[in-house]
This record gives sequence, C-alpha cells and structure tokens, in this order.
Amino acid sequence: MLRLPWDLLFKDLCKGNATVAGDALHPMTPDLGQGGCSALEDAVILARHIGNSFLKHKKFFPMEMTEALKFYVKERRWRAMALITGSYIFGRVQQGGSKWMMSFIRDNLFYRFLLRRMAGFTNFDCGKLPSMNSSKEVDDDDDHNKIE
Ligand SMILES: Cc1cc2nc3c(=O)[nH]c(=O)nc-3n(C[C@H](O)[C@H](O)[C@H](O)COP(=O)(O)OP(=O)(O)OC[C@H]3O[C@@H](n4cnc5c(N)ncnc54)[C@H](O)[C@@H]3O)c2cc1C
Repeated sequence: MLRLPWDLLFKDLCKGNATVAGDALHPMTPDLGQGGCSALEDAVILARHIGNSFLKHKKFFPMEMTEALKFYVKERRWRAMALITGSYIFGRVQQGGSKWMMSFIRDNLFYRFLLRRMAGFTNFDCGKLPSMNSSKEVDDDDDHNKIE
C-alpha cells in the first residue's frame, strides 16, 4: 500500500484534537525500509510539539493541542511526501526489469546520481525534545538527536 503523495499536501491530516501518525499517515512501499523509522520520527515530533505546548502553559489546554497538532502536520507533510515518493521510485527502478531502457536509466542515472541522494533520506534530525529542566538541555551539537 502507499498513499498518493499529493494527498498529503491537499488533504486534512488533523481535525480538532485528532491526527494520524505512522502507517496511518504515510503508508509506503517497502523499498527504502523507512515505514517504521518514519513512524518513530512522527512520534518524536508529535511529542516535541505537545511537550512545547505543555511547557508553555504548564498544563494541557485542549485548544492549544489543536495548534500543536497543526504544527506537527506542517512539519511532517513534506518529509512524508518525500519518503513515499522516494520509496516508490526506488522500488520501481530496481524492479523495473532488464529491458535496455530501464537498464540504462538504472545504471546511468539512478545508481550514478540518485541513489546516494535517496539513501540520504534516511538521515533525519527530529530535533530536541523539550525538557522540564532547562539546565539539562543538550548543548553539544553532535548530540542533538539525544532524547532527554
Ligand atoms: C515485512 C515487513 C518488513 C518491514 N521492514 C521495515 C524496515 O526494515 N524498516 C522500517 O522502518 N519499516 C519496516 N516495515 C514497516 C513497519 O513495520 C511499519 O511501517 C510500522 O510498523 C508502522 O507502525 P505503525 O505504528 O504506524 O503501525 P503498526 O505497527 O501496524 O501498528 C498499528 C497497531 O494498531 C493496532 N490496531 C489496528 N486497529 C486497531 C483498533 N481498531 N483498535 C486498537 N488497535 C488497533 C494493530 O493491531 C497494531 O498493533 C516493514 C513492514 C513489513 C510488513
């Protein structure tokens, strides 16, 4: 299963205090092996926005949650779209058969120019989760994937 990438751009991905994450948000072909990884990205980013909202008000406000979910959707939309598209192209090219045209595209364009770029999709920085104790924040840039 895959979701059509443009659906992520034009359709509502949250409503009130409800949203979707993981395969419910971005079902994709298995070719990049990123379905589970991106579900974890969703979780961290959603937690960051909800956490920021909580820290700002020191408690959960239902209206603020709607805003937090909107920020989450905004942040995930393009990333999910890129992963769905990249995964589809990756699979399509590799399983496209051995006719000369496909072989030519695969060997001269895909492996030479696109493969490294697409494999780079798998590197993603989810940002820092907010911490209740600001003194605990991680200063070292190399460490900025660390979850506190
Ligand atoms: C064979 C295979 C290999 C894969 N390999 C990789 C890989 O190498 N790397 C990678 O990143 N991803 C991989 N994936 C993809 C990855 O497994 C999924 O993208 C990921 O599990 C999605 O997580 P999720 O939490 O969104 O959904 P799920 O893991 O499907 O979790 C949804 C949960 O909701 C439950 N549920 C459903 N309906 C209800 C209901 N009505 N009430 C209560 N609970 C409900 C289900 O039982 C399930 O436990 C692979 C998938 C498959 C099938």
